[in-house]
Amino acid sequence: MSLLAVGTIAFDDIETPYGRAEKVVGGACTYISLAASYFVKPIQLVSVVGGDFPAEMLDQLQRQGADLEGVQIKPTEKSFFWAGRYHADMNGRDTLDTQLNVLATFDPILPPAYRKANYLMLGNLTPQVQLQVLDQLEERPKLVILDTMNFWMNIALEDLKKVLQRIDVLTINDEEARQLSGERSLVKAAEVILTMGPRYLIVKKGEHGALLFDTKGEMFFAPALPLAEVVDPTGAGDSFAGGLVGWIAKTNDTSFENMKRAVICGSAMGSFCVEHFSINGLLGLDETDIQRRIKDFSKLVHVDF
Ligand code: AMP
Repeated sequence: MSLLAVGTIAFDDIETPYGRAEKVVGGACTYISLAASYFVKPIQLVSVVGGDFPAEMLDQLQRQGADLEGVQIKPTEKSFFWAGRYHADMNGRDTLDTQLNVLATFDPILPPAYRKANYLMLGNLTPQVQLQVLDQLEERPKLVILDTMNFWMNIALEDLKKVLQRIDVLTINDEEARQLSGERSLVKAAEVILTMGPRYLIVKKGEHGALLFDTKGEMFFAPALPLAEVVDPTGAGDSFAGGLVGWIAKTNDTSFENMKRAVICGSAMGSFCVEHFSINGLLGLDETDIQRRIKDFSKLVHVDF
């Protein structure tokens, strides 16, 4: 099944209790593509980079299964830049800087071959751009998954609400779920958000796992794998989204039961991501690594009575 992913390809400055990494490769689309590539290939990417973005890095994404026809390169402009500092517990983080650069004027153009994608992952990006992508589709995908963040809730809430009406799955973190719904309880927040458009809501809770809700009142919880070393949580949410959508595209099944498996695959990819700085935790894995990690998750939650 074909998979289309939209999002940032970026440079990040990251500070965690483990150390610092400056001008490393990041961006939602980058993490989504790498994580999903372990389940399905190719992944059709829609994004934009400046002339400062290394060609070798784009080559690496391509070697790993990305189709770059929809990635625009603006030679005279700079790539999207984000800087963040993590708190001592690694769960909270402060955004120190967001420079939209190429993203400020990004006009996404879907190559004809992308317009009938079976599955669409709208990664964290300007809601206006997400709407422009939806408008170019010739057929409605079987499932549209959206990831967003407080940054867009603060500056583009009205457009974000329009996007929500056109998607099936929303993935956000617990604080963002509270902000979007105005409710403190996550159960109540889910009830409110599920009236805004999506039929599934996934609330990411960092090292405390993820909750899946649907409009019929079903609920599922997946823990995060307790890891000996969490080096850099950047991209965990996007790797989660990549694993999730990769599994769904591979299995072509959007039932609640299969969403549960998808949440485990997402959690597994998030766990690889946080073990290293930048995208390094997602490089060079093989089928056995992924299978073993998924088994670790199953063991963690399985109990016989
Ligand atoms: P995550 O840790 O999964 O939330 O994603 C971190 C990645 O998102 C970083 O690599 C950033 O480049 C990218 N990012 C940060 N802020 C934004 C934003 N406002 N819009 C799009 N991407 C962003």
